[in-house]
Amino acid sequence: MKIFINTMLIGFGEDMAIILIIIIFLGFFFFTFAINGIRLADNIFACPNCGHHFKPKWYNMMFVPGRIFLLFNKANLKCPKCKTRDTCSIPN
Ligand SMILES: [Zn+2]
Repeated sequence: MKIFINTMLIGFGEDMAIILIIIIFLGFFFFTFAINGIRLADNIFACPNCGHHFKPKWYNMMFVPGRIFLLFNKANLKCPKCKTRDTCSIPN
């Protein structure tokens, strides 16, 4: 890793190396959220207002914290039928 960073410093200059590190970090950050979203989108949720059952899109689930979700089996989602944002839970 140290050799890799040194090579970048010589190759692109210090500023470019910092930018590259930030891009790699953001990419990893996005990847973590995407995996979280795909994992959570694998569940069927029930709307508390109209009772409609739906499968959320993975990109809507990206910023739902996985740990909180697992603890309460609930997620704050927008219902595709009545367009209301509410706490949806997984029906038994
Ligand atoms: Zn609804």
